[in-house]
Amino acid sequence: MKIYGIRDGLLTPSETELVYFARKFLSKIGENCALQIVYDRTLFPEYRDIAYTDGETIFMSDKIFDLSRENMIALLAHEIAHIYFMQRGIEHSEDEADEMAELLFGSKIYYDEFDIQTIDPRNTKPFRPEYLPQ
Ligand SMILES: [Zn+2]
Repeated sequence: MKIYGIRDGLLTPSETELVYFARKFLSKIGENCALQIVYDRTLFPEYRDIAYTDGETIFMSDKIFDLSRENMIALLAHEIAHIYFMQRGIEHSEDEADEMAELLFGSKIYYDEFDIQTIDPRNTKPFRPEYLPQ
């Protein structure tokens, strides 16, 4: 498990948290996975474009640092759930990724007012809204 793209030197509190949770969460699914932090926001043009995975590496926009810790944890857990399924060759939906995230990490995934995943139940939707990609 490797983390790429994090700056050298003193990390900000949110960078430190991302590294901490990424190490802790990625180690749960084994060695064959990585997190790449991407500082080029043109690769994530839409508001909800924050993270995606190819089944091994999570590509995460530095937009993550503008979000809450609850968003960060939920997004990491959701992408790691995708990796879990993809590395086993299991077709799955976005809802199933949220369910697997809960099974793996113990926190239910909610959707906040901007339709971004969060583990914070306050003022959120308890399930992925139907108008989002399924
Ligand atoms: Zn997803």
